[in-house]
Amino acid sequence: MNIATLLETAALTARDKAALSSPHETVLTYGAFRARAARLAAGLAASGLAPGERVALAMSNGTEYYEVMFGAWMAGLCVAPMNPRLHVREFAFAIADSGARLCFATPDIAPGLAAELGDACRVVEIGGPDFEALFANAPAPMVEAAGDAPAWLFYTSGTTGKPKGAVLTHRNLMAMTVSFLADSGTCVDDNILHLAPLSHASGMLGLAYVARGRNNVVLPALGKPALEEALKNFAPLSFFAVPTVVRRLMEPSLLAPEFVPAIRRIFFGGAPMYVEDLKRAAAHFGTERLWQLYGQGEAPCTISYMPPHLIAKALEAGDDRRLGSVGIPRSGVALRVVSEAGKPCTPGEVGEVAVSGDVVMAGYWAREEASAQAIRGGWLHTGDLGFMDEDGYLTLVDRSKDMIISGGSNIYPREIEEVLLLHPAIAECSVIGVADAEWGEVPVAFVVASGERPAREAFDTLCLDHLARYKRPRDYIFVDELPKSSYGKILKSALREQWAGRG
Ligand code: AMP
Repeated sequence: MNIATLLETAALTARDKAALSSPHETVLTYGAFRARAARLAAGLAASGLAPGERVALAMSNGTEYYEVMFGAWMAGLCVAPMNPRLHVREFAFAIADSGARLCFATPDIAPGLAAELGDACRVVEIGGPDFEALFANAPAPMVEAAGDAPAWLFYTSGTTGKPKGAVLTHRNLMAMTVSFLADSGTCVDDNILHLAPLSHASGMLGLAYVARGRNNVVLPALGKPALEEALKNFAPLSFFAVPTVVRRLMEPSLLAPEFVPAIRRIFFGGAPMYVEDLKRAAAHFGTERLWQLYGQGEAPCTISYMPPHLIAKALEAGDDRRLGSVGIPRSGVALRVVSEAGKPCTPGEVGEVAVSGDVVMAGYWAREEASAQAIRGGWLHTGDLGFMDEDGYLTLVDRSKDMIISGGSNIYPREIEEVLLLHPAIAECSVIGVADAEWGEVPVAFVVASGERPAREAFDTLCLDHLARYKRPRDYIFVDELPKSSYGKILKSALREQWAGRG
């Protein structure tokens, strides 16, 4: 069951429909997309790549992204998409780790990467003569692939140690796609706008749109003119965005409010959506457009979800706790919260989120020990801490490594962040634990003020009004912005370094 079957089918059922578009125009129909992918598959086979081999992708967003992915899949190859903003050395690490002998790279990346890699790996620049030569062969038929054959190596962000490649099989990607189609009630009359990197969740969700023969509109970079142009030309559009980008999209400098009706759904996830931000987003975009998803590279995009009607219900009931949840289990996913001893927790009890089902990765590429640690007894242990309530709603409290232990008590940064964001002068904040001689660890807040910086006492009062005294941050550090990964996630590791650097 090769995941490229999605394209084979769409080329029959939606042959003349738009498949891949830039913000301005459609570049390929499904018929043409399949023909290009099949030619590329032939070119890759002719250049000596055998089914099962990995092909790395160091590519910024462009319509060629899916051509390359589906071309590789049609040849029975496994893709290893990398975050386009990585350092060349980080690309080189992932490429060596995956064993890829060929890497597709966009012109912004290719020259530096080729210089770094030397003879270790062939770099093919997108749009260059080498790239076009790969399309010179007659189209090849799709190679059959076993369901458990690797299809996508998803490189984790590596916040602890070196990045690891989560091995996603053809079955994993199919399960993810089918679950999305079952749950989302979309991809029927809307198109997808890729405004986030295709190497991550956006690229994965796009597979459901290929399955339905809908248009994949690719934004080369997040900017106002291209974004508005895409919405003007291809509405209704749905897209994936991390919560920090959802916040930015409420600023008219990025998106004029009159374009909101052109949006069908905003799938947000990948990082916590704070309750105050969700309320603001609901007021700005309309609840019917908001769809939360929670997943991780190891169980791509598909662990739990909070669809619009459940968000609306929580809003109407004024139920902030539920609004701060990540919703209910996705279709085809078994979800539970377990104690350190591996026992299922009772409702409301905090433990580690564990997942099982066809969406769970096969393991980490060439990392037996890490794989055995992550998948135990058939359950993926996500490293996320949370609790489930009596109605099946999952609330994440934090990543286990971000939890603060102060004087023997657990403090979850998220609960402090939620409270600080109630203050109108706080635009963004992030709380970390720092070493303390007396308590072991204490919380410290990094704060971005929305205007003038208020006195710290105001924050103290707010925290003491809502939280136990020991959870109150011992310090508030004002910063102009919070460090974020190129996927838009706040980097607590960088904040810890910043704190250490202060002496
Ligand atoms: P990645 O594998 O890079 O997609 O990161 C996955 C991690 O992001 C998860 O393990 C969670 O810690 C976090 N995450 C993903 N979705 C959500 C969400 N909706 N709310 C809070 N955290 C999330």
